[in-house]
Amino acid sequence: MNTFDDNHENNQAGANPNLKSLIQMKDITKVFHTGGIDFVALNNISVDFYAGEFVSVVGKSGSGKSTLANMLTGIDHPTQGSVTIAGVPIHNLKESPMSIWRGKNLGIVFQFYQLLSTLTLLENVMLPMDFCSTYPQTDREPRARDLLDMVGLADFADNLPAAVSGGQQQTAAIARALANDPPILIADEPTGNLDSKTAETVFELFSNLVAKGKTVVMVTHDPGLAAKTDRVVHIQDGRLVQEEFASAAQG
Ligand code: ADP
Ligand code: MG
Repeated sequence: MNTFDDNHENNQAGANPNLKSLIQMKDITKVFHTGGIDFVALNNISVDFYAGEFVSVVGKSGSGKSTLANMLTGIDHPTQGSVTIAGVPIHNLKESPMSIWRGKNLGIVFQFYQLLSTLTLLENVMLPMDFCSTYPQTDREPRARDLLDMVGLADFADNLPAAVSGGQQQTAAIARALANDPPILIADEPTGNLDSKTAETVFELFSNLVAKGKTVVMVTHDPGLAAKTDRVVHIQDGRLVQEEFASAAQG
């Protein structure tokens, strides 16, 4: 275990000098103003995420995990500090360019799946391709079917979300996250609403994606799953308190 300190960049580089920094969060502070009160949800967090890494972010409820995830996805903006992903300073992007950039570069997975209930699983997976025009129109449906097949949902492609289980909705959401073949996946408690066996299946999907070269940042409150990732980033009261590197992953 490496205790987080001001030399964290050295620690991280020391863990595996071959890793290339893909995401840089620098001096991130997020203050929410509610009812005339300032609440510091993230307090001067600096952390890098490396290409090809499977990182988990853990911490108690209310510690700032979702706020941190929202800084990475650009769903919310920092009060201070910068977030640079693959060289793009995303904290500077306005909403419209941000949503196009996000659609092409990030796959996002939420605890409650956020599939559109009136669309079939297939249509849900096609949506990001339609939005970003990433693939020719005629390629989108076969690609969506391939992705659903990859996550084990080939037979459910034409079902509405309500007609499949929670685990199947989440695997469909992962297929949707992969629609534009983004290099990075950000997941906020993706197994938080699933039984442990289904959670394992979803975790295996993420592991397989990392094995294929994707970078995955997964917020989780499941210590068992976190322990199986390459690195665990601990958040407490909006501060980064420590990082642990998996011994097995650092060959
Ligand atoms: P976690 O995901 O670790 O449970 P969050 O990042 O959701 O924690 O929240 C961290 C803290 O910030 C909590 O105290 C929460 O109440 C507060 N918070 C989150 N979002 C907002 C918001 N939009 N307005 C005000 N406070 C918020
Ligand atoms: Mg949360």
